[in-house]
Amino acid sequence: HPPLDVNAIRRDFPILAERVNGKPLVWFDNAATTHKPQAVIDRLAWFYAHENSNIHRAAHELAARATDAYESARNKVARFIGAGSANEIIFVRGATEAINLVAQSWGRQNIGAGDEIVVSILEHHANIVPWQQLAAEKGAKIRVIPVDDDGQIRLDEYQKLLNEKTKLVAITQVSNALGTITPVKEIVDLAHRAGAKVLVDGAQSVSHLRVNVQALDADWFVFSGHKVFAPTGIGAVYGKAAILEATQPWQGGGNMIADVTFERTLYQPAPNKFEAGTGNIADAVGLGAALDYVERIGLENIARYEHALLEYATHGLRTVPGLRIIGTARDKASVASFVLEGFKTEEVGKALNQEGIAVRSGHHCAQPILRRFGLEATVRPSLAFYNTCQEVDHLVATLKRLKGGRSTTVLG
Ligand code: PMP
Repeated sequence: HPPLDVNAIRRDFPILAERVNGKPLVWFDNAATTHKPQAVIDRLAWFYAHENSNIHRAAHELAARATDAYESARNKVARFIGAGSANEIIFVRGATEAINLVAQSWGRQNIGAGDEIVVSILEHHANIVPWQQLAAEKGAKIRVIPVDDDGQIRLDEYQKLLNEKTKLVAITQVSNALGTITPVKEIVDLAHRAGAKVLVDGAQSVSHLRVNVQALDADWFVFSGHKVFAPTGIGAVYGKAAILEATQPWQGGGNMIADVTFERTLYQPAPNKFEAGTGNIADAVGLGAALDYVERIGLENIARYEHALLEYATHGLRTVPGLRIIGTARDKASVASFVLEGFKTEEVGKALNQEGIAVRSGHHCAQPILRRFGLEATVRPSLAFYNTCQEVDHLVATLKRLKGGRSTTVLG
């Protein structure tokens, strides 16, 4: 791969030419959602203009085109995350639906009274609530891996949580609130030694670092398309073939059956067994195009560029008086969460928006980890490979001006 040419990349994203409050848009809300390159927008338009049909059933030309496009996207997802087979990829709405699918299918069939589900305190609510609901239904227990003061997983405490009752470990690969990259491989290995299965939440990882689900030996790996430059409403579950085969479906309906009588229904093999009804065909195709785009730049190039940009942003933010970075682990991706002394996070978000800078201020759907640091909210700039050092400078300068203004008012 050639080194990353950020100016050329920026021209691929039409929305980056938008102006907000008269200023060029600075998109530092990539952990919430990412923008779409023209290649993805064009692919969607092409699908609707030339291929649109329902899939798998009708024996006509457009059904064949739509089916080919959809299944080719499934192959791209499999390759992108290093799955052994496209049959291990289930299309869903996103990471949230993915986790609910695993909880409501495998979980309901395999978790019983007294069993334990281990999650970390870093988890997004999407990787907490479905397990809580399952635990409440089954009389199972949730155990929580703590973090150290830098926001990194305490592996020593994790090991103490594992025992013969542990059935599942559900862990994020990258924290959406702090940016911590967790030691997923070690977590998986320790869980497997204890006889537990592992679901890895890759919602924040797939756009920033190379993932190989087979190398990780994850039992499930889930992510959302919209956080990796694809449309909203599409995402994927990877599940090991043997597990998917042994798991009963979640939703029932068309597309997932082999044969239906009133006495019994025979299901299709995975992945179709888990895709009841008409799926989000066009956006799955869009996801395939997004992954092609990312692969053209190269995840290794992306990771290197973003790592340098995050370091640059962290250094810059540290020069703002009264600014405290939350999440100081050595291994981080994309996120620089902070609080600014004397300001509500909302005020900071509004002030930045005045300058065209989009960040998220709030709890980031991860209340437990913010409360671990005594907070209800942070300001969260989150970077992607189309962001630049100049944008970071603009952020830092705006924060300094904001902070300076307030000090003057207070003193005066
Ligand atoms: N897990 C993590 C770590 C996330 O950051 C998010 C989205 N913020 C989700 C799960 C849920 O993803 P979605 O809302 O796309 O289903």
